[in-house]
Amino acid sequence: MPSNAPLSPLALSVVIPCFNEEAVLPELCRRVNEACAKEAKGSFEIILVNDGSSDGSLAVMKGMMTLYPALVIANLARNHGHQLALTAGLAQTRGARVLILDADLQDPPELLDGMMRLMDESRADVVFGQRLCRHGESLFKRASASLFYRLVGKLTEAQIPADTGDFRLLSRRAVDLLNAMPEQSRFLRGMVGWMGLPQVPFPYERQPRLAGTTKYPLPKMLRFALDAITSFSIVPMRLASYTGALFGVIGLGLLIYVFRAWLLGETVQGWTSLMVVVLVIGSVQLLCLGVFGEYLGRLYMESKRRPLYIIESVLRRDNP
Ligand code: UDP
Ligand code: MG
Repeated sequence: MPSNAPLSPLALSVVIPCFNEEAVLPELCRRVNEACAKEAKGSFEIILVNDGSSDGSLAVMKGMMTLYPALVIANLARNHGHQLALTAGLAQTRGARVLILDADLQDPPELLDGMMRLMDESRADVVFGQRLCRHGESLFKRASASLFYRLVGKLTEAQIPADTGDFRLLSRRAVDLLNAMPEQSRFLRGMVGWMGLPQVPFPYERQPRLAGTTKYPLPKMLRFALDAITSFSIVPMRLASYTGALFGVIGLGLLIYVFRAWLLGETVQGWTSLMVVVLVIGSVQLLCLGVFGEYLGRLYMESKRRPLYIIESVLRRDNP
């Protein structure tokens, strides 16, 4: 029976962004449902955000609603990307606590129990999963992830712990604060760190992906890294100015050298040095322009004030 009555609050919500995850969905729902049933009895919901999947994910999700009454499907109109899919899911939650999970079961849902205990004991607003080791991931993935966390840590002022993903348990207060942040380029783990609420790590071993392939190929990873850095730091722009100043000083030195050579009549040679100067200055200029462009582009996108995502439909058991 469709109803317009406000939905009642629950003890726990789980948010899972899914992009072409049909292969893992049945096992995912079974394990998450089991973990939640232990923890929150009948008072939980599992929000699957279908991020514009082009495979049969949506059909599989719908099929599973009959098995698991706690399932909620937030169906986005198109692919918006991991972070926006998460944002859309968080906005739908009504649990006193919210667990964020990936669909591929790399982060075991069975850890919910331990994370809930840790939140009870520490009274923290955020219990974040910290990866002790990452099984089944390529050397390149591990190396680039490690470099990324070190770089972001150096460049930003927000407290973003290393080797964490979005796998975390949040209090209602933290989720409400996140939902109130309007920015388009979202780097959620950074935004959680930025809030500065009490947070405690929960060490665990990351498992290999259950099935399917990674939805973060290199171009997406690069865009994600740029989003993370630009939304939390203007250090790259400052570096561009410093580089400009450095080259200015070098240029002044060269000017003196050139005048001296001119006075002494040694001005015929110098093709190599000329080319070096032109190429180096040219590339530094382009690089600095690119840095400014990254910020300007984001400023432009923000200034449109468009909604962050479009939800095509939300399916709940009581509102099928
Ligand atoms: N994902 C998404 N939209 C995207 C890309 C990824 O919702 O455009 C989801 C994906 O289904 C998964 C999570 O984000 O649940 C993390 O993606 P993945 O596991 O492929 O990333 P990895 O662990 O390889 O970094
Ligand atoms: Mg994964």
